[in-house]
Amino acid sequence: MSFSYNVKEELSRLSSSICCQRAELASLVRMAGSIKIFGGKKKIFLQIQTVHAPTARRIYKLLRKNFNSPVQIAVKRNSFLKDKSLYIISLDINDCKVLLKGLGILPAGDSFEFQKTIVNPELIKKRCCRRAFVRGAFLGSGSISNPRGPYHMEFVTPDKNMAETLIKLINSFGLKSKKVERKNNYMIYLKDGDHISDLLGIMGAHNSLLKYEDVRVLKDMRNSVNRMVNCETANLNKTIDAAVRQINCIKYLKDNNMFDDLSDNLKDIAELRLEYPDLSLKELGQMLDPILGKSGVSYRLKTIENIAHKLQSRKGEL
Ligand SMILES: [Zn+2]
Repeated sequence: MSFSYNVKEELSRLSSSICCQRAELASLVRMAGSIKIFGGKKKIFLQIQTVHAPTARRIYKLLRKNFNSPVQIAVKRNSFLKDKSLYIISLDINDCKVLLKGLGILPAGDSFEFQKTIVNPELIKKRCCRRAFVRGAFLGSGSISNPRGPYHMEFVTPDKNMAETLIKLINSFGLKSKKVERKNNYMIYLKDGDHISDLLGIMGAHNSLLKYEDVRVLKDMRNSVNRMVNCETANLNKTIDAAVRQINCIKYLKDNNMFDDLSDNLKDIAELRLEYPDLSLKELGQMLDPILGKSGVSYRLKTIENIAHKLQSRKGEL
């Protein structure tokens, strides 16, 4: 099961108070519902669609509890849906009017286009109800990526007013959500792992939040270990490059019978370098008598390199 599915499953099982139930239902209906009109308004009904069985059960329960009207559920399954079941919850015209008026999402007059209505502010006055509203939106058409990949959470709706309300609501919790317009839809999304995690908690998905955080902690740790290893590898490469350069210069001086002309100090450090190519400058210095510091060793090896380079350029080999 996907991470999204598990979050929805957890949200579907939450219990909530009556005020919140209405807010959640209003949001669910606006996100996943549509009005179907047949035969020139002779037959009108509200249809709420979802491919998620626990969400369908929740919608059914919320409707039964709050509106006491007959609700029909149909299940569709075909190859177009890639073997997923589509649950269609429908109410007929009268029940539909009662429901939409009760949820404050039916515009004045005879119109049935609730997409043109502003979300009723009464519905989301209380903090508990604002949380329920976001929960309903997620159940209706939200999704979240597995935290092992890039952090992403989104809500999709064709309803501009709903999109704007949702952004305001999410951001009122101190989070940052943004909106993009795509064909006939608005996508509201969050990209920040901390914010997504917070929103899971705000919706009431506490188990999912813990799982999300577990994966994030592991991922962060792995990233910082990788960063550390990369950094150390880079330093190591620099050290090896320097040692190879020094050894080449020393060998060049020997091949050209110039080695014996070096001072004893330089000869000593050169012999040590040849014998211990993988020791650090500090370690080489500690093998000298008297002990020489890192910068002293570095200076002597640089001097050897300079002598070798001068000889090379004099012979036209550089
Ligand atoms: Zn409430």
